[in-house]
Amino acid sequence: MLRRFLAYYGPQKHLFIADTVCALVIAGIDLAFPVILRALTNGLFTEGQHAIMASIGMVAVGLVIMYLIRCACRYFVSAQGHIMGARMESQMRQDLFDQYERFSFSYFDRVNSGDMMSRVVNDLFDICEAAHHVPEWIIICGVEIIGAFVILFTISPALTGVMALVTAGFVSLMVVQNLRMRSVYTDNRVKISEVNSQLQDSLAGMRVVKSFANEETERIKFRRSNDRYLSSKEAMYRVMGTYQATSALMTGALFTLVVVAGGCLVAAGRMSAVDMATFALYISLFTTPIETLVNSTETFQKAIAGFRRMDEVLQSAPDIEDAPDARPLKVPAGAIEYRNVCFSYEDRELEDEHRAGDERPVIDHLNLSIRPGETIALVGPSGGGKSTTCSLLPRFYDVQDGSICIDGQDVRSVTQRSLRQAIGLVQQDVYLFDGTIAENIAYGRPDASFEEIVEAARRANIHEFIESLPEGYDTVVGERGSRLSGGQKQRVAIARVFLKDPAILILDEATSALDNESEEAVQESLERLARDRTTIIIAHRLSTIKNADEIATVERGRVVERGTHEELLAQNGTYARYYRMQFEGMRATSA
Ligand code: ADP
Repeated sequence: MLRRFLAYYGPQKHLFIADTVCALVIAGIDLAFPVILRALTNGLFTEGQHAIMASIGMVAVGLVIMYLIRCACRYFVSAQGHIMGARMESQMRQDLFDQYERFSFSYFDRVNSGDMMSRVVNDLFDICEAAHHVPEWIIICGVEIIGAFVILFTISPALTGVMALVTAGFVSLMVVQNLRMRSVYTDNRVKISEVNSQLQDSLAGMRVVKSFANEETERIKFRRSNDRYLSSKEAMYRVMGTYQATSALMTGALFTLVVVAGGCLVAAGRMSAVDMATFALYISLFTTPIETLVNSTETFQKAIAGFRRMDEVLQSAPDIEDAPDARPLKVPAGAIEYRNVCFSYEDRELEDEHRAGDERPVIDHLNLSIRPGETIALVGPSGGGKSTTCSLLPRFYDVQDGSICIDGQDVRSVTQRSLRQAIGLVQQDVYLFDGTIAENIAYGRPDASFEEIVEAARRANIHEFIESLPEGYDTVVGERGSRLSGGQKQRVAIARVFLKDPAILILDEATSALDNESEEAVQESLERLARDRTTIIIAHRLSTIKNADEIATVERGRVVERGTHEELLAQNGTYARYYRMQFEGMRATSA
């Protein structure tokens, strides 16, 4: 894992080296200042005022140059150091995003989107803070602590020894407090993510909240998580206060020690007053880096945890990949063949709930052949496996047994890109991106001309509506298409598929959420879309399947009957029962 982390430094090695050199220069200059001052003051006492004036001039020039260099180095460490961290962060973010794009649906079924977001945002921030600061801190602080120790030791080994003992005592105390701070900090992260998910849930479900007039309940829920976050922050600040007080106490104790013990040594003639002052000057050079180092362990630990979480994603192999010899799919006709297909979702909890221990797969030796250009409707009880059957065709999931072929080519033997280009999907829950209507339609084929976009909209029965909008095709649809009605969104989605012009079409309950009027408009454009394409319709309402050439009833993961509407009614099986139920329901509603 360390090797993979260090690899991110590779492209930044020049910056890293320059950053390290600058950090060393800063540490060196910080250490040199008290030494110069000591030499100067010693000179003042031994050489007299006149002789020293000349060296003061020289030292002044030297100091100005030194501090200008320190200033430049500080700038470099701050600006370029952070830039180096940001570049590494950007690369990691891109790698994570690219990896997420490689995963199949079963990954997204397992992993929560909030968790993915936090890996991309929070974890990466922690990693890169450490990537840039920790080496710099270790170098600057390490050099300063060791340097100060050596210099002080040469001045007075006894005083330095006592000082080191006192410091060690305080450092142990600070490390313990730091551990406590870490647990409070972790709690803080949990509480803020609770606030975030509460906020996200309430905002996303705002329509439901308002329709149930449940604003007060939401407010109370939010206040609770907000209060828990506040308490956790208060606890964190209290621990932080204690920690800072301890560190201030350490500085105070060291100063007192130098004044008292140093004073005694001066009185006893075992140390000069100038040396005692030098000691005092080095105390802050000693304590500040110690504090920084103790703090850096926290940043470092957070970064390790963060990188481990990121690495876990990067190291997991995408479960659906193109075969090494995958060829592009060719669809001269559009025949589809499901042969003995078996499939189960990895997460069995949902199914187990329904089946109470029944270990049958979701798709259980399913056989289905669809002729080129045919429209077949899948009907059957909810949970019977209709959507799953369709998800297997574009390889959103892979079959566990059996095979699915399009024009004789196994879907696992062709490239995923060509496979998905050949299949158009219109779902009940349309997802529009936050952009203009034209951009959303063009998602079907990004290189489409404006005329082609308009033509697709015409065929999807949405052109007139778009034209009636003040900004026409440039109208921004809002987040998830919130400014359009269900039927309008559906037709934009259909226009998108017209533009894509796939040979195979899957209509997944595309009209079941619409009112009658919208359904009619959408239905008409869907029929136009299905013309000359092999089409699978998943239907709950029988009105959606009246144009199907054939109907297949899917029950418990199998096709249990198949035929035209009349044939199936005559068979008097599941479909006939299902049909009568809906038909009688409809008569009851209209009566
Ligand atoms: P239908 O479309 O006929 O209503 P589905 O294919 O959606 O049926 O579902 C078949 C079974 O698979 C159901 O028991 C359902 O709970 C389960 N299922 C569907 N999607 C998932 C999923 N992503 N993860 C786990 N189980 C699922």
